[in-house]
Amino acid sequence: EEIDFVQATALAGTEEKPVEVTAAERKKMSIEETRKSLPVYKFRKEFIEAVREHQVLIIVGETGSGKTTQLPQYLYEAGFADGGKRIGCTQPRRVAAMSVAARVADEMGTKLGGQVGYSIRFEDCTSDRTVLKYMTDGMLLREFLNEPDLASYSVMMIDEAHERTLHTDVLFGLVKDIARFRKDLKLLISSATLDADKFSKFFDDAPTFKIPGRRFPVDIFYTKAPEADYLDAAVVSVLQIHLTQPLPGDILVFLTGQEEIETVQEALIEKTKALATKIKELIILPVYANLPSDMQSKIFDPTPPNARKVVLATNIAETSVTIDGINYVIDPGFCKQNSFDARSGVEHLHVVTISKAAADQRAGRAGRTGPGKCFRLYTAWAYKHELEDQPIPEIQRVNLGNVVLLLKSLGIHDIVHFDFLDPPPQETLVIALEQLYALGALNHKGELTKLGRRMAEFPCDPQMSKMILASEKYQCSEEIITICAMMACNAAVFYRPKAMVIHADAARKSFWGAPIVGDHMALLNVYNKWKETNYSQQWCLENYIQHRTMKRARDIRDQLEGLLERVEIEPKSSTDSTTVRKAITAGYFFNCSKLDSAGHYKTVKNKHTVHIHPNSCLLEEMPRWLVYYELVFTSKEYMREVCEIESKWLLEVAPHYYKGQELEDPTNKKMPKQKGKSARELTGE
Ligand code: ADP
Ligand code: MG
Repeated sequence: EEIDFVQATALAGTEEKPVEVTAAERKKMSIEETRKSLPVYKFRKEFIEAVREHQVLIIVGETGSGKTTQLPQYLYEAGFADGGKRIGCTQPRRVAAMSVAARVADEMGTKLGGQVGYSIRFEDCTSDRTVLKYMTDGMLLREFLNEPDLASYSVMMIDEAHERTLHTDVLFGLVKDIARFRKDLKLLISSATLDADKFSKFFDDAPTFKIPGRRFPVDIFYTKAPEADYLDAAVVSVLQIHLTQPLPGDILVFLTGQEEIETVQEALIEKTKALATKIKELIILPVYANLPSDMQSKIFDPTPPNARKVVLATNIAETSVTIDGINYVIDPGFCKQNSFDARSGVEHLHVVTISKAAADQRAGRAGRTGPGKCFRLYTAWAYKHELEDQPIPEIQRVNLGNVVLLLKSLGIHDIVHFDFLDPPPQETLVIALEQLYALGALNHKGELTKLGRRMAEFPCDPQMSKMILASEKYQCSEEIITICAMMACNAAVFYRPKAMVIHADAARKSFWGAPIVGDHMALLNVYNKWKETNYSQQWCLENYIQHRTMKRARDIRDQLEGLLERVEIEPKSSTDSTTVRKAITAGYFFNCSKLDSAGHYKTVKNKHTVHIHPNSCLLEEMPRWLVYYELVFTSKEYMREVCEIESKWLLEVAPHYYKGQELEDPTNKKMPKQKGKSARELTGE
């Protein structure tokens, strides 16, 4: 099998011949030489002068030019961290925050967590000595709660501004505001794309500092006909490139998430095994958000001679992380995006087509160290007619409950008139306010309640925070924070090696409990059993449980325990699953669905058809009422992590949201206009 590609116009470069050091030479260079070879190096003096002269500076430079790793170091060397102040730099993705901080610590010859540190949700790797601090945009937002004027910083760099994540967009408004009364605070807004005018206008016509990029031309190829299965097409293309294109030259494939990456990885391993003796070695390296960091750093290891590296990445590799030596990019044209439909009140993760701007960014990754090639697994017609020009900023497509609660906690009451770069749809703001009201975080005047203030202490979405606070009343805070920790690590708890499926499934079932009441309780059982073994790794192995995930859950739980203390909730334990499930319901009552007479689940408020996820322990139980943690759309709309409840609990935990008759009479057609939504964590990364 082979894919028919047609060549189209190339992405223009600024360089023709690789005058730059080749990948092979680069590998031999010292850290000092590498730093000096980056495009930004030549401009370091001008950069420092510009920062001295202006309070706000918009930085524009091609990905890989050295903005993230170098600019904070130049500022440090120029004395901007003198007098005990810090230089901060935000990243939309936590993988980027960690990997960039690690790189900079290396370049400065210090240990990570010392002079150079990072802070991401549930993980603070900084100390009193930290002067260069990388953090997710979500974490900086939370820092405003404790330090509304960012007093400990002399410079704040809002990096990857072009990504327009929800948190970055909110930060724009907040930092613009504090810059007015903190004249000594320097602001850098840095972006990899050329649409800097918009940022400049927003920041009162701040000057733009351009770092001329260095990019080689990239030939663009499209498929002749649409590909039915882009994963399969990606696998075929990798092999096609590997067999026909000369070495050296690594391959970068853009996929939408961990599952796809693992599928492609498996297929490639299988196919290359079959060809083993006939082809050069192909080193397969995955990169995605939940990949353990020691494995992530492998993508930066030099490719051995006579081998080729293929990096399977999510769109983290689009602009946040630069991998040297890539000459071939394979772009199926998709990414995962969460979106919120205000009308149906449903929020979910979807695989969507990328924008033209993103497609061109992806292609550009092939031209960093020499002329490159980009293989788009879609037709030229599709590029022209089916891709939007620019991605829609997250703030205009997601649920805003979290951000509204945070802004309210910062004393910003008039959210409709907050200084947004692009305002969110009015409808979405109203829904967020209504939901916070239903959760009890706001009163009828839209003011923060005591409950809301306590909820804001937790770096979680409002539903989860509410569930934690409800555990006080139901006297089960110990169980609830365990459940939160297990869900917040957002990584697989169980694994299922192909050869051991029967054993793995049996092990998984042993945690379901009797009676089986839901996935939350199953996760709780896993954690508690693990704890009984004194956190044994061997036990995890025997039960097909990821020890790494469990360790992370334990760390998160420790942090949540500390936060409980802050809001003065005593650790209390309950052996009664009913109380635990009531606390869950108190947070997730929006996400309630009911089995109808035809045997289908419909969400209670808007009659949206949903299905129990195949991995759920309730798949065969089919309880009449349940609440779910989130909706994931793949082939169907799936509820992930479901919990059996009784309908009368809804009246107990959300009396102003549900009406009695609505819960009892299944034929009631006159439902109040829906306000519900699904749970999606918006905090942090
Ligand atoms: P920008 O922010 O402009 O996209 P970066 O500062 O992130 O650029 O990257 C500059 C260079 O630093 C990259 O080209 C890459 O070679 C190198 N680099 C960044 N992170 C790492 C890492 N973890 N390991 C090795 N090299 C890295
Ligand atoms: Mg960068």
